This record gives sequence, C-alpha cells and structure tokens, in this order.
Amino acid sequence: MFHIQVLTLFPEFFASPLNCSIPKRALDAGLAIFEAIQIRDFARDRHRKVDDAPYGGGPGMVMKPEPVVAAIRHARKQQPDTRVIMLTPAGRRFTQNEAREMSGWPGITLLCGRYEGFDERICHYVDDQISVGDFVLSGGEPAALCIIDAVIRLLPGALGSHESAEQDSFGHEGLLDWPHYTRPAEFEGHRVPDVLLSGNHKAIEAWRREQAHSRTRQRHED
Ligand code: SAM
Repeated sequence: MFHIQVLTLFPEFFASPLNCSIPKRALDAGLAIFEAIQIRDFARDRHRKVDDAPYGGGPGMVMKPEPVVAAIRHARKQQPDTRVIMLTPAGRRFTQNEAREMSGWPGITLLCGRYEGFDERICHYVDDQISVGDFVLSGGEPAALCIIDAVIRLLPGALGSHESAEQDSFGHEGLLDWPHYTRPAEFEGHRVPDVLLSGNHKAIEAWRREQAHSRTRQRHED
C-alpha cells in the first residue's frame, strides 16, 4: 500500500479532489492511504504560531522552522521509509518520469508551504525539493494534489481495464498522446480524420504514431 502524507496548514483542501474518480477508487480499494497532517498542531507556543517576519525585512511572512521540522519528524516516525518532499517553485521540475519513480516507493510525504515560503534551514530536513512548474501558487497544496493524482493513477490496479497509463502522453517513448475523437463523425463542420473511419487498423496505427511524433515536435522543442 502506497502511503501518502501531506504536511499542510489546510488539511481540508484535499477532501473533495480525493473523493472522486480515480483517486477515490484507488483509496477505497486500499491501493493507497492518505493522511493530511496539520502543521499548526506542532506549534508549541500559546498562539500556535507557524510564521514570522523575515530577517532582513521585507514583505510577507516566512514559515518557522520549529513547527515544520516537528511535523516532518512526526511524519518520519509514522512512516520510517517515507521520502519527504518540499514543494517549492525553486525545486526540480516534476515530470511523468518522477511520477513513475515515486509510484514504486513505499510512500511520500509532501510538505506544503504558504506565505513567502519556508525558512531556508528547513531544507536540511527534507529529501528533495520539487516544483510543479515555473509559476507561483498561493500554497503547496495544489502542487501536492498534482503529484498525488499523477502518482496514484500509476499504482498497479488504479486504472480500469479500459484505461491505460501506457498510452498516455509521456508513457509512449516519451511522446505526447495522439488526438482522440468520438461520435459524431462531423461536428459543426469539423470532421473526424477519414483514416479513423476507414477500419484499416494498420493505417490507423501509423497515423496515430505520426500524430504523436509531430505533436511532440511542435509543442516540446526539447
Ligand atoms: N516566495 C516564494 C517564491 O517566490 O519562490 C513563493 C511562495 S508561494 C506564495 C507559497 C508556497 O506555495 C511555497 O512555499 C510552495 O510550497 C508553494 N508553491 C508555489 N508555487 C509552487 C510551484 N510552482 N511548485 C511547487 N510549490 C509551489
């Protein structure tokens, strides 16, 4: 069973997205287990403070090391073989390859920041730092959700027989997926490519490969 822990100031953020579709099915089937841990529960002062003003001045607040590190230690105690991943725009970019690798681990602990982010010293207590893209979110929770969703669907048994992670973008020799069509054959003047209606499976396969290659070339210069 894949054990997901999230360290967050907003545990309620995850309830609805994990309660539908593939993640819900996987959690219900016991393929994965999810726990959101409230960082504030590890603040020891009277006001349960988790943030403070930055040294050196400037706007915004910084997440304090004491409660965050205590929360990380709690997560490691609960799951000694977990890997703790800090979510930060400064981290390594999350990719399908990362998702595939993570799906083979015993579990992950995702550390979500808020405000201006973490006191830099917290980096000493995590195993990795990951970004979901070159943009800034208000908090790490949407980033954690992206990672959870991408990993859960790769767990053996998470997808039904009619779904396939192999055929998805990046699964197929690192290529983007080919375009898909369904009925009707013509919609407001836009026709389904003739080859898909031809019944010629060899030609369809060749067309799909060509489309996957040309899309990948067009949209991913790298
Ligand atoms: N001051 C930080 C900066 O410019 O790098 C941004 C902090 S952001 C408002 C608050 C939190 O959101 C971060 O600590 C991080 O956990 C999360 N976050 C924002 N963008 C992210 C991204 N692209 N990938 C992963 N986490 C992100």
